[in-house]
Amino acid sequence: MARFQLPASLRETRNYVDGEFIATGRTFDNICPVDGSVLAQVHEADQAVVDRAIAAARRAVQGKWGALSMGRRADYLHQVAHVIERRFDEFLAAEVADTGRPLSQARQLDVYRGIHNLRTFADLGRYAHSEFYETQLADGSNLINYVKRKPLGVVASISPWNLPLLSLTWKAAPALICGNGVVCKPSEETPSSATLLAEAFAEVGVPAGAFNVIHGFGAGSAGALLAAHPGIDAMTFTGESSTGAAIMKTVAEGVKEVSFELGGKNAAVVFDDADFDAAVDGVLRSSFTNAGQVCLCSERVYVQAPIFECFVAALKAKTQALKVGWPDEPEVFMGSLISRSHRDKVLSYFELAKREGATVVCGGEVPRFGDARDQGAFVLPTIWTGLSDGARTVTEEIFGPVCHIAPFDTEEEVIARVNNSAYGLASSIWTSNLARAHRVAPRLDVGIVWINTWFSRDLRTPFGGTKLSGIGREGGQFSLDFYSSISNICIRI
Ligand code: NAD
Repeated sequence: MARFQLPASLRETRNYVDGEFIATGRTFDNICPVDGSVLAQVHEADQAVVDRAIAAARRAVQGKWGALSMGRRADYLHQVAHVIERRFDEFLAAEVADTGRPLSQARQLDVYRGIHNLRTFADLGRYAHSEFYETQLADGSNLINYVKRKPLGVVASISPWNLPLLSLTWKAAPALICGNGVVCKPSEETPSSATLLAEAFAEVGVPAGAFNVIHGFGAGSAGALLAAHPGIDAMTFTGESSTGAAIMKTVAEGVKEVSFELGGKNAAVVFDDADFDAAVDGVLRSSFTNAGQVCLCSERVYVQAPIFECFVAALKAKTQALKVGWPDEPEVFMGSLISRSHRDKVLSYFELAKREGATVVCGGEVPRFGDARDQGAFVLPTIWTGLSDGARTVTEEIFGPVCHIAPFDTEEEVIARVNNSAYGLASSIWTSNLARAHRVAPRLDVGIVWINTWFSRDLRTPFGGTKLSGIGREGGQFSLDFYSSISNICIRI
């Protein structure tokens, strides 16, 4: 028997539409990337299923779900969160089996954050305020104006495989609290936690059609059918920049609202006044967490010249000590990549780095285990030095456990080098000089800058990227704004 198993209800992973679990004629394999075993058969949504999901979502907005108060919708989202807490271990098993990531990371990054997303947006909606103005006109008469949030309608949400439950709930929770009907298309690589979430929605009796899950691939499948559907009112997408561009062209036809969280080529900057050990540990985490498959991971590391050699040596030692292996073993820091095909992409960059003249400080190969893991999608965490800023390995998003470390001399120089990127998602700065941190952070052309930390999130703050990293901001009030149709009501007194 394979080591990783899904909860029994998912062996046939079905679509969740209008409050029912639906099988279709066509299925595809859900493959565990740890050992290549087949976890489940997933039912691919066709045009009829997509049509049905969008029609159900529309009925929910115009009917029961849209008519509920924010407070009642918040109660439902809290109940869903409660079901996830109760079934925590099943969600954990699903995320680990689908992604190959260590239990400890799946616990924090996925299941905990899934619960937190639902609870936070439920409360943000429940306690949201609105703008109100008293206005005096030239003739002395008075007006009052207030801002009313209404549902946008049917929100299509397409999400990636790297943080399945986190990404999906980050979009679905605010969309739902605002009264929308939501049609979610999780990645074909990670259909399981979305389907468990649908079970939670069914269990607590959220009105049918408010939350729907359809399965399938992107181009030529459920993703493209959803994006092209005239019945959606908004598209919220997380994934690669090139996919975002393709979806944007499709939805432009119907002038739909878009929110895009896309790729990154993030930089970590280590000044010579940084707490050295904290910076090494921080960059270790920011480069190799989830095998580098977090959009916020740092694939470019700039270290001030006086500490460059020591830093490379220290990061190398800690990287080589990271345990790579079975994700359910407690000391393991890195499991597999998401799939063999993604591994092929990462391996192609290992080759390219060598051709571009990199020094391979460590890693750069596939580990051999002599057991079922050799059928999986593992690579070793990898550090390079010696590449120019223009090398493809240093400019293109690889989305694997890799970083290139380069020395720098001055603040001005490093700011220019960080900003010399087609992407602009996140950066982290390691320094003990507070004035320097305040000087440098606002000059980095990215959506979020962390100082002496990485991937620390308060869900009330804005999140998103510049340039190829996305369009719009979500988080807190920004999410409520995006998922609402905002109107002004003006009354003459
Ligand atoms: P991807 O773009 O390949 O796929 C994302 C989703 O889009 C999947 O559900 C896929 O089926 C669907 N899709 C693909 N082509 C489509 C099409 N033509 N029409 C409609 N849907 C389509 O991305 P991925 O490989 O799943 O995820 C990794 C990428 O996501 C990385 O680039 C990463 O940086 C990015 N990401 C960004 C953020 C962020 O917040 N900025 C967060 C997580 C991941």
